[in-house]
Amino acid sequence: FKVPPAINEPVLNYAPGSAERKLLKDALSKAYATRADIPMYIGGEEIRTGVKKEVRPPHNHQQIIGHYHEGDKSHVEQAIKAALAAKHAWADLAWEQRAAIFLKAAELAAGPYRYQLNAATMLAQSKNAYQAEIDAACELIDFLRFNVQYLAEIYAQQPPANAKGVWNRVEQRPLEGFVFALTPFNFTAIAANLPASAALMGNVVVWKPAEAQIYSANVIMQIFREAGLPHGVINLIYVHGPDAGEVIFNHRDFAGIHFTGSTKVFQEIWKTIGTNIHKYRSYPRIVGETGGKDFILIHGSADIQVSATAIIRGAFEYQGQKCSAASRIYVAESVWPEIKEEILKELATIKVGPVEDFSNFVNAVINEQSFDKLSKAIDAAKSDPSLDVIAGGNYDKSKGYFIEPTVIVTKDPYYITMCEELFGPVLTIHVYRDAEFDNILTVIDNTSIYALTGAVIAQDRYAIEKATNALRNAAGNFYINDKCTGAVVGQQPFGGARGSGTNDKAGSMINLLRWVSPRTIKETF
Ligand code: GLU
Repeated sequence: FKVPPAINEPVLNYAPGSAERKLLKDALSKAYATRADIPMYIGGEEIRTGVKKEVRPPHNHQQIIGHYHEGDKSHVEQAIKAALAAKHAWADLAWEQRAAIFLKAAELAAGPYRYQLNAATMLAQSKNAYQAEIDAACELIDFLRFNVQYLAEIYAQQPPANAKGVWNRVEQRPLEGFVFALTPFNFTAIAANLPASAALMGNVVVWKPAEAQIYSANVIMQIFREAGLPHGVINLIYVHGPDAGEVIFNHRDFAGIHFTGSTKVFQEIWKTIGTNIHKYRSYPRIVGETGGKDFILIHGSADIQVSATAIIRGAFEYQGQKCSAASRIYVAESVWPEIKEEILKELATIKVGPVEDFSNFVNAVINEQSFDKLSKAIDAAKSDPSLDVIAGGNYDKSKGYFIEPTVIVTKDPYYITMCEELFGPVLTIHVYRDAEFDNILTVIDNTSIYALTGAVIAQDRYAIEKATNALRNAAGNFYINDKCTGAVVGQQPFGGARGSGTNDKAGSMINLLRWVSPRTIKETF
């Protein structure tokens, strides 16, 4: 291929005394001192409406780190207009030129913007330094680089056969219209990738980030602009969801949605699109990654340390606010006492607190609404005599939205927190009898409406094979002897089916193919 082969961005470790630690600390101080004034970006304009909304760190909600300017329906209309005005020049630009812009963006994110973007993600989304680094630095950069490689592969694909005297070719065109990117708070990388992947394929985009991610979206936009993205290709707006939806989903040129967020919102959007289908010029592409109720299955042959690490990291990194986070564990009775001892030992060393102290493993959950939902679930579990809350159970929102990592043990594999997504540091464990391994596979498959990630921990090959086969529809990303989070772009294409999404694998050719509308040309000589 003509493009530089993509490689994964190495993860910096921010060890005490390291140069990167100092640079990140400086970026954090600078962010507090600067108090960003965040405009919307429509066409070439920075739009400051004067309707200023405060940005506060979830772990330190007394502090204000900036403001963003909120828009209304008229800004959605403007953003669509700006996108459509930019469309023809962008679509006709040679793909190498588009690719070069995003490769430059990757270099800017890897170099001059790395600490600023990590600091923004740490402060506004309450991620510790390591979680920010693997997201806002590495994954974001990997998406940009690998997507360029996939783009080149897609453009190189041509029909393998031509009859005598005929030349067949396939021309990759962008969708006719604009793409709407509706992006989540929990991954800065995903928020960048949803508009960027569609734009890379020649589309123009209206991008609406989740409120808590606006602060880091602003930095992403600066990177895209400095990389030379032409005005109007990606338009960033902050408008109340239903207002944005009303304009976008009624527009004739709405060509597709690239979504990560809740199952409920995605289903509502799908219905709206269905109702409005006669209004559109083309059938819109609907691509979404939604909820999860991700499992780890621990067999009687499992390694104790591997199991404990998978549980702790899978469930509690980023406060369990990954769609992929482990939230239901099935553990064989024979290994449970040792695993329990190990996880309690590890949990006792875990510190909960603000991101500015790098030794805190668990930071705040994203907002008060999430805090209230989680604390309610914890209270319900604590007052239920059939359950055993073996760790955590405390919470405090006086300074930040802190929830202690909490572990509930239930005899009922269908207890509510085994079935429903909570999106926080609350884990439920069910201990099964070793002889009932086959039955537990059926339970896992039937317990939730989701199918995002899952893991089996075992040394017995027959058990691994059985679980891999029986759970083939229960997770789009399946892990053997590892935690169920942390998919790496270029290594484990990410996404799930059932209630978890359309499974168009983020960071893969499958995803990019959703953003093209190919034309086949047959020429006869
Ligand atoms: N790709 C992430 C992982 O593998 C999760 C993405 C999400 O939470 O949406 O952990």
